[in-house]
Amino acid sequence: MHLQEIYEYVDAHSQEFIGDLVRLVKQPSVSAKGEGMQECAKMVEKMMREVGLSTRIIPEKEGNPVVYGEIKSETSKKTLLFYNHYDVQPPEPLEEWICDPFSGEIRNGKIYGRGVSDNKGNIVSRLKVVQAFLETMGSVPVNIKFVIEGEEEIGSPHLPPVIQKHKNLFSADAAIWEFGGTNRKGRPDVYLGLKGVLSVELRAKGANRDVHSANAPLIPNPAWRLAWALNTLKNDKDEILIDGFYDNVDTPSAEEIECLKTIRYEEEEEKKELGLKEYIHDVSGLDVPKALLYQPTCTINGFLTGYTDKGSKTVLPNKAMAKLDFRLVRRQMPNEIFSKLVRHLKNRGFGDIEVISHGSTEPVKTPITDKFVQTVIKTAEKVYGKEAAVYPTSAGSGPMHLFRNWLGYPVVSVGCGHAESRAHAPNENITAEGFIKGTKFIATLLHEFSVS
Ligand SMILES: [Zn+2]
Repeated sequence: MHLQEIYEYVDAHSQEFIGDLVRLVKQPSVSAKGEGMQECAKMVEKMMREVGLSTRIIPEKEGNPVVYGEIKSETSKKTLLFYNHYDVQPPEPLEEWICDPFSGEIRNGKIYGRGVSDNKGNIVSRLKVVQAFLETMGSVPVNIKFVIEGEEEIGSPHLPPVIQKHKNLFSADAAIWEFGGTNRKGRPDVYLGLKGVLSVELRAKGANRDVHSANAPLIPNPAWRLAWALNTLKNDKDEILIDGFYDNVDTPSAEEIECLKTIRYEEEEEKKELGLKEYIHDVSGLDVPKALLYQPTCTINGFLTGYTDKGSKTVLPNKAMAKLDFRLVRRQMPNEIFSKLVRHLKNRGFGDIEVISHGSTEPVKTPITDKFVQTVIKTAEKVYGKEAAVYPTSAGSGPMHLFRNWLGYPVVSVGCGHAESRAHAPNENITAEGFIKGTKFIATLLHEFSVS
């Protein structure tokens, strides 16, 4: 196998690849608002066909379509699946962008746009690897499957039944997940799992309409009610007080601790970038990745009640709501945590507060000792010429459990982003260099996987 030929092909076609990425970024696909979803699915399917994959769109009655593509190898029986998503986060706040978020503008070697890093850069980079192999070798080193869904940014609510229904279509020997990149030192990040997440909404109700605040001695205030209820969930030491919340939580193994030591988390750089003097409880050193990857959380995402506009208004609101998310570590199942939360509120005298679930995913992990994991790490180190930063799991969440736990194969996340790609934030970007390097990395990985 002459990978040099592939690298040369990628270099020679880099402008065309970047052009296709810009084209995809220009197509808005904001799942939260249902903006451009069908159009983007069609564009992704067309790109798949253009590189030589056979495709099908799995339509969803309620949700956005899943785009599927595959190509068989002439030389290997192994199958590698790529999981990606074509939907993006809303671009707001627009005034903080240096360019139109759907322009794909290129400045100083960086391609800007909502979704360019999360996740369109990886989509295009991986599709182009297929094109590079077919045009130079006439075949791909292993069977390849692509699952590109359109609801990752809203919690993949319709993906589980799709996977359930098409188990054979999604069978594989291993999978590469959607995200990743290099850190500030140019070391490739390799992620072996995800935290789970449970999103909930709490609602408190008072009178059947807002009343004059002079009535406060008599009329219950749902804003206070909700504040008191929230106060029972977590103390000022950041300990979550829900009964049984920490039952069975996963702690790092000796092997994982060794891994955490080699990450050398870039805490000073991150704090500086975020304008913070210290992290919560001033954690530092090894405790930073430990907290980030192994600590389950309870986060208030938003709180809405009463009058918050200019000046004052002496009103007593009749409703209050808060949105929360719980990031969960291994062995914390979201449905159990939900029941524990409901029971906790009831036991503390807050049974009147309505608890609504807005979706969840399970925590998931592939062991470091897995053979595919080792292949990915070795390949990353070879291509980037630097020690990989291996995360036994990551702080983020996603529907990885459907593939790892339901279908049973190893899943590793790597990608072509960088430490300041600003996913979900204004001025999301990737570097053209990182995009091309990431493409060569995936090409090399296909080869290494075929001979491993
Ligand atoms: Zn995202």
